[in-house]
Amino acid sequence: MKIRKLETFTNEFVGFVRVTAEDGSTGWGQLSTYNADITAAVFHRQVVPWALGRGILEIDDMVGEIARREHKFNCSYLYRAMSGLDTALWDLRGRLEEKPVVSLIGGEPGRLRAYASSMRRDITPEDEALRFRRLRDTYGFDAFKFRVGSECGLDRDEWEGRTEAIVPAIRKALGPDVALMVDANSCYSPGRAVEVGRMLEQNGVEHYEEPCPYWEMEQTREVTATLSVDVTGGEQDFDMQHWKRMIAMRAVDIIQPDILYLGGIARTLEVARMGAAAGLPCTPHAANLAMVTLFTMHLLRAIPNAGKYLEFSIEGPDYYPWQEGLFVEYPYEVSDGMVTVTDRPGWGVEIDPDWLARSSYRQSEVAA
Ligand SMILES: [Mg+2]
Repeated sequence: MKIRKLETFTNEFVGFVRVTAEDGSTGWGQLSTYNADITAAVFHRQVVPWALGRGILEIDDMVGEIARREHKFNCSYLYRAMSGLDTALWDLRGRLEEKPVVSLIGGEPGRLRAYASSMRRDITPEDEALRFRRLRDTYGFDAFKFRVGSECGLDRDEWEGRTEAIVPAIRKALGPDVALMVDANSCYSPGRAVEVGRMLEQNGVEHYEEPCPYWEMEQTREVTATLSVDVTGGEQDFDMQHWKRMIAMRAVDIIQPDILYLGGIARTLEVARMGAAAGLPCTPHAANLAMVTLFTMHLLRAIPNAGKYLEFSIEGPDYYPWQEGLFVEYPYEVSDGMVTVTDRPGWGVEIDPDWLARSSYRQSEVAA
């Protein structure tokens, strides 16, 4: 069965893709968030031409061909756009076979441990500790990630002393039994990264994300080789050559592909397999509660080298106003610190018709 039509529904932040097959059956996917309107333009110009009229099961072939045909545009936008095609096709296939995507890729529905992931640096250590305690008491989270340093900050902290204060403050507030993670978002030189890393180790932090500028893989490797805490990274990387190099040089202890930055499920499975072959766990990046976290839930219940937990954003409408009202039924209920991958076909969600009605619409269709 062939792809007949591809439609996008976007605003500046979020973009959904609907694929329609010859028989009229449909599937929903998502472009990566932010500049989704620009990504949709790339989608219709540089992804759709290689997909319309192709068999709906030829996902691997299509994503490979798009990368080859558009080789002069090997950039983030191409893969952010490709993700919309890939994830819509997985949903379509799931709906046709009446199986959840997790079952199509070798796993089973069920529960997953989530970690509460803070996106904020403008928050004081005291306030971050307070909201983590509330989240623990309300939802049962037993793992938390917070931010250290400043984003791409050339060794500078968000404000002086914040990092040295927040790490012990969070440990003290939550006690010795919870898992703590931090994200430096490309802040540090190797020397400073190791200094901070020693302090993290003293406070029992188990995951040290993106300590050095992510593109400086040799710097990250130096930190990984020096510290005992797990150094993690890879969320920005969409180029398979970067992944091969990162894994071969052991730049990180845990790989963190983002399904929608990388080009979709097919390419993320490929990266997860490369990690598995090297003995590296995979804890994907999923920084908001649009569809990326749902895609990641299905993936984590299917791959053999799944990391210990799902990234689960704790930010609400004040930080992510654009993630409100996307779904007919909310897929992200948390209890006992766990989320659930259901056995509903495909991704198991419907996009809210009111949201779609407010979006910018564009379609590409096979000529009749
Ligand atoms: Mg990160």
